[in-house]
Amino acid sequence: MNDVKTVSPDEARTLTDRIKIAVEGTWQLIREAYTSRAWAALGYETWDAYCAAEFGSARLALPREERREVVASLAESGLSVRAIAAVTATPRETVRRDLTSGDPIPKENGSPATRSVIGVDGKAYTQSAVTPQSDDDLFAGEDWVQPDGPGDERAVTPPTPARPRPEPVMLTLRTHKGDPVPYPKPQSKATFNSTPGAGISWANWSWNPVTGCLHACDYCYARELATSERLKTAYPAGFTPLFHAQRLDAPANTVIPAEHRDDPAWQRVFVCSMADLYGRWVPQEWIDQVHTSMLASPQWQYILLTKFPDRYVGLDMPPGAWVGTSVDEQKRVRIAERAFREIRGAVKWLSLEPLREPLEFTDLSMFDWVVIGAQTETRQPGGTVPAFAPPFEWVARLVAQAREAGCRVHLKPNLVNGKPGMQLPDEYPLP
Ligand code: SF4
Repeated sequence: MNDVKTVSPDEARTLTDRIKIAVEGTWQLIREAYTSRAWAALGYETWDAYCAAEFGSARLALPREERREVVASLAESGLSVRAIAAVTATPRETVRRDLTSGDPIPKENGSPATRSVIGVDGKAYTQSAVTPQSDDDLFAGEDWVQPDGPGDERAVTPPTPARPRPEPVMLTLRTHKGDPVPYPKPQSKATFNSTPGAGISWANWSWNPVTGCLHACDYCYARELATSERLKTAYPAGFTPLFHAQRLDAPANTVIPAEHRDDPAWQRVFVCSMADLYGRWVPQEWIDQVHTSMLASPQWQYILLTKFPDRYVGLDMPPGAWVGTSVDEQKRVRIAERAFREIRGAVKWLSLEPLREPLEFTDLSMFDWVVIGAQTETRQPGGTVPAFAPPFEWVARLVAQAREAGCRVHLKPNLVNGKPGMQLPDEYPLP
């Protein structure tokens, strides 16, 4: 232990700041590679294939909020690559590096986006964008930098001027009350969001033809995202229920990447991961249109989940649907048992996530599959809601009851190796 180097508080602060800058710079590059489809330009069919081949997928898995809802929601909302970069960029000082030499470029307060050209003198020149929110050429007015010095601007072959950016065409979406909400028209056809590694191990797609929810779950990660400042553009109504008719064609438009055709997780889509499609307030017309879209593309396994399962009863379900209900507290148990005795066909599943209190079911035989998970920390408009770890006994009793009823059981990784984990017994023999 004697040879461990200690640092002063000032040195520790400097070290920490250097890490922050390095981490931020790396994430900027990853976001840029993802949103600019660098992977496609290199001939990969998917982001995952690119990560696996170029870096090893484990080393470059974007965290849940980046992959699943931040980037994907922005793309789904029709924002251009430039706009996504502007929204996801962190507006603080960033070290930008020359693409050729790796040297820092001394500019502040901007995006690290850079471009390079070979000058007529045969040397590489790099130019940095400073104003990503600008509608004009990102690079307008910025100096070219040559690795060996300031460079001779006359040596640079001028790049093709940026095309003027067209005014976004706006759609008018409607809330559950019929209020209009302007929304940018997508620039490409609607598809599912690809979500591998986003925390839902059994489905690699999500689809949000409806966003927003009026349930009051204080732990809701979807509300955290939809009300966050940086996703204002993608969620202009915040968490107020909103119908995205422009996304109804996604089941017909989405194609499974060739290398994943045999993977069941790529055949499943989590429907309305950012909403409760079957909440009491949801207009029946929205539900009917989403079901019409699902029924017209029966090749997918649609994963459905609600806290108000009474609305499932009598609906025409797609043949491969997994119909689920979420029970986090005892007061929802009877509602779930009653509704699921009426539901025919389909895979019927029960989500006990987050498990917030011990639950007593009279019977679990009406379910095929039971999922149990812990509560992770979220940041809500009213403040941070802490994580909660259910005691082992609550989980063990439910697992035993589910097995007895013939259900398949899935324990979410956050129960055992995530945060907060599960409160495992920690007992020893009595003296
Ligand atoms: S039902 Fe789901 S989407 Fe709605 S508030 Fe609760 S956790 Fe969020």
